[in-house]
Amino acid sequence: MRMKCPHCSEWANIRTSEAVTNLLVRHYFVCSNHLCGHTFVGATEITYTLSPSARPNPAVMLPFSKNVSRSTLTRHLQLAREATDEQLLSSAKVPSSAPDSQAAPGEG
Ligand SMILES: [Zn+2]
Repeated sequence: MRMKCPHCSEWANIRTSEAVTNLLVRHYFVCSNHLCGHTFVGATEITYTLSPSARPNPAVMLPFSKNVSRSTLTRHLQLAREATDEQLLSSAKVPSSAPDSQAAPGEG
């Protein structure tokens, strides 16, 4: 991704980027015009959903476009609920492959 330098209007390239959140990335730009030399910081933000994910992350709070249909929203909410339920179930499971170390010596 490139942006125009606000001072000289030449292209500026991203030197590095860092995730601020899962919806916001900060970019460090360097102007390609050596006579300008401007370096600056910008950001890319994910602002809303056009088409929902088939694997929604329940932790992502992202508004939907007004053009998303009610049936699509209903299906997305169902998938998000199932993903949350799976997370709750997997965190509550006791490993079944754990060795039986509770037996006292000599038993059996
Ligand atoms: Zn510049």
